[in-house]
Amino acid sequence: METGGSSTTAVRKLSLTPKSIIFQKFGKEALYIVEEVQDVAQNGCPGLAIPQKGPCLYRCSLQLPDFTVSSGIFKKKKDAEQSAAEKALEKLGIHPSTDDPSAEEASDKLIACVKYFFSDEFLSSLHPLSGHFRAALRRDGDLYGSVPTSVIAACDSKLCNICKLINPKVETNHFLLISYIMSAATRLPEFVVTSEGQLSIWRKNSYPPEIIESSLFQQSDTVDSICITGMHIPCSVEKEVQPVTLNISLTEYYLDVIARKLGLADGNKVMISRTIGKASSEMRLYFAAPKSYLMDQSSDFVNDKVHIEGLLNSRASCFCGQDIYGDAILASIGYTWKSKDLFHEDITLQSYYRMLVNLMPSGIYKLSREAILAAELPVAFTTRTNWRGSFPREILSTFCRQHWLSEPVFSTSSISLKASSETSRLDKKLKVSESVKQDKECVSGGGTATNDLKSVGSESAFKCEVKLFSKSQDLILECSPKEFYKKQSDSIQNASLKVLSWLNQYFKDPNMASEKLHYSASVLDIRFYPENFFKKFSLYLSMLNIQQSETQGGNFLRLNSMNTQNTMPENGVCCLSTGGPDSGVYPSNGCLLFISYSVSLVTEGGNMKELLESREEFEFEIGSGAVIPHVEAVVTQMSIGQSARFNTELPIQELILSAADDSARLIPLLLSKVWWLEYSISLLRTTEPPEDRMEQAFFSPPLSKQRVEYAVQHIRQSSATTLVDFGCGSGSLLDSILDYPTSLEKVVGVDISLKSLSRAAKILHSKLSKKCDVVPYNDVKSAVLYDGSITVFDSRLRGFNIGTCLEVIEHMEEDEACNFGNIVLSYFQPRILIVSTPNYEYNVILQRSSLTSQDDDPDEKIQSQSCKFRNHDHKFEWTREQFNSWASELAARHNYSVEFSGVGGSVDIEPGFASQIAVFKSRLPPEEDYYQKVEDLAHNYKVIWEWDSNNESRSSL
Ligand code: SAH
Ligand code: MG
Repeated sequence: METGGSSTTAVRKLSLTPKSIIFQKFGKEALYIVEEVQDVAQNGCPGLAIPQKGPCLYRCSLQLPDFTVSSGIFKKKKDAEQSAAEKALEKLGIHPSTDDPSAEEASDKLIACVKYFFSDEFLSSLHPLSGHFRAALRRDGDLYGSVPTSVIAACDSKLCNICKLINPKVETNHFLLISYIMSAATRLPEFVVTSEGQLSIWRKNSYPPEIIESSLFQQSDTVDSICITGMHIPCSVEKEVQPVTLNISLTEYYLDVIARKLGLADGNKVMISRTIGKASSEMRLYFAAPKSYLMDQSSDFVNDKVHIEGLLNSRASCFCGQDIYGDAILASIGYTWKSKDLFHEDITLQSYYRMLVNLMPSGIYKLSREAILAAELPVAFTTRTNWRGSFPREILSTFCRQHWLSEPVFSTSSISLKASSETSRLDKKLKVSESVKQDKECVSGGGTATNDLKSVGSESAFKCEVKLFSKSQDLILECSPKEFYKKQSDSIQNASLKVLSWLNQYFKDPNMASEKLHYSASVLDIRFYPENFFKKFSLYLSMLNIQQSETQGGNFLRLNSMNTQNTMPENGVCCLSTGGPDSGVYPSNGCLLFISYSVSLVTEGGNMKELLESREEFEFEIGSGAVIPHVEAVVTQMSIGQSARFNTELPIQELILSAADDSARLIPLLLSKVWWLEYSISLLRTTEPPEDRMEQAFFSPPLSKQRVEYAVQHIRQSSATTLVDFGCGSGSLLDSILDYPTSLEKVVGVDISLKSLSRAAKILHSKLSKKCDVVPYNDVKSAVLYDGSITVFDSRLRGFNIGTCLEVIEHMEEDEACNFGNIVLSYFQPRILIVSTPNYEYNVILQRSSLTSQDDDPDEKIQSQSCKFRNHDHKFEWTREQFNSWASELAARHNYSVEFSGVGGSVDIEPGFASQIAVFKSRLPPEEDYYQKVEDLAHNYKVIWEWDSNNESRSSL
């Protein structure tokens, strides 16, 4: 019978244990089955199942995919396992420790490294670790000169890197690292001493007195004690994190002080994490070495087998990306390269909560904007000029660092727009490039503008893929956006933002059903690998779950359902009050808005108020989700110069506490009362969206005005009595037409944007109610605004005299634009229809002018280069040929005539008008009867506002 005497106490020997080699090769496919065996020799008869009181013995069989081996019989289970693993390795022809020369070499280096630390010269060196060696000489009694192994593991990155060569797992497994150092020490019996059950190392012979004297003398003892604040992070997430005070006299070793706070006798039983945060930080987590590890450092802790849920401190582990067990203390203290004195810093509750917030993608953005309660990670990357705060790529890198992932890997590819004809059939977005290519060919044949167009057409377009890997190179997710960008860096930002947006969705709702998670990923062109993904983030999830239930059942941005005089109940905003005169200037999508704001905590009755966050001037892009939804919803209803105040329910507690200067005082207050968040906002000023800016800068009067005037002209000439404006937006055309004497009796606008419609309603309402004094010469009897899509028919708008659709079709996908054409001419059947849309060929003029006229503004330059269309909400922009063929085919199909015209530029000078216009006229006589019959059939639109010359207006807004 074999006995266990010769079994491997593997880690001691520095090389890998047979078990860990097997684990590296087979992972979970290696199955160990340990069985208890009776001592057959004593028992005499194996067939008789007589209960036997003698010592228990074990045998292990190891099942691998191709074969199974069995160990001999051992007194300890783990020896049986190692023996089985050893046998398996023999069978596989692997000889541990001799097979990997680099690991062998690394072992030698590690031993040399440890030896150097205990040399005379090291004691007086400037190495951060030497501070600990000197401090060890201030320890009393048995501890005199004893250096905790955990500081050696934590304070020297070179040593860490050497150990990574032996086994990459030391990266996440701190216990393994310490075990390697302990083993190295046992190989240096002439220099150092270790003892069983102690995580510390002594120098065998004492230092020469002069060395001790000189190195201790160098220390500048300006103070005799220091007092710092750290954070106590309980293992149980249900317990609050609390400040702890560390009083350290300079005659003692600070690790012993921390140990006592952890309920330990001395610092030799303390484990230390790596540093957290900035590169120069000395912030670390301290926790008690698990008892079983102290007893046996070759135990399961080393083999990555222990994940005792109850013991794992999820909050602490999330911060440092290492497994932290039990209660932990977060403290910023230690020796640095710069000085022989002890470096130390207080950690406030606010800074702790900021660290928590900084784990979330949106939190990183909020902090970069210094607007925790107002800013939100935007949902879209429009242009570089409009982005505020850290850029998506930077945020993604920070996120990966915070979560101890590898740096994100970007790969960009470019296509030359010239040679894209094959690829361009692949997907929809690429149609853009195809049309660009066509433009170029079609126009370069045309003559005059050839050079101009070459400068646009001959460029390449970029798209970017991004992959996230764990430190051990497991692929966690990949994102392959379909969009092409003119600038490589923009494609990188876009891909980064998609990844961040998705991660953010997950972080806000980690319990999201798997289907939904996959769906939301696919929408953002993301594929994630659930096994690797959840392995990485499940810890974070377990921490978040509790935190969420703690904050009064709060979700990340939980909206309230409480209704007071709530004007916009669906926005989660209540008690909204606005003030100041309506300046008529409204922020619109794509422009930058400048606001000042403050956010305070207020109690239900309003008798207590605590200011949390305020900014004199804060700018953000409208329509990209760069602020929390409440703020966005409110500001888009206001005009410049106005102020508003409203309440919302509280967001998660972490956000509040990381915004407040005085978090410690707030916590008890938060628990004792019902609080609301009160936002006060003033709109300072705004910039126009790029399209408007361009149209105003290069055309006089502005292009938008020219379009409206063109339409007004037609309406007046047509002597129409009924007008419908398809996609009326904020009502600029309907507003203008009321300034002229016309034969119009009924005017109608349709749009899908409630925001725009509400502005249109305000403007029309004030104009029509003052009609008698201001607008004496028109005879409009009724006006209606509908909420609805113009690709859907509503019988109430059938058979109007004239229909207009200015700058709308390019906001739909191309197939929808075709759909609209068919529906409008076959169902709505206006006698006349005027459609305008940008002429893509003209962009080169706009872009060139914006480059030359604003040469001194580099931002402006970047912007005009990065936006291929005039406005980032445009889904397409057509060349003259594309527009002509769309309109001609449409007209022919529905028995209309069509004529082409435009505004801005001239028809005879290349590249034609800036805005191209088609005027359709019905060739058939009006069908009065039929029109009556279908009147009530299809009511798909919702009346938003209605005015009647006899009655007061009604509004459902
Ligand atoms: N005609 C206005 C607005 C142009 S902006 C003007 O010239 O000032 C484009 C407008 O089209 C936006 O207000 C947008 O909400 C609207 N729009 C886009 N798709 C629409 C659809 N399917 N149905 C109705 N309106 C639409
Ligand atoms: Mg437009």
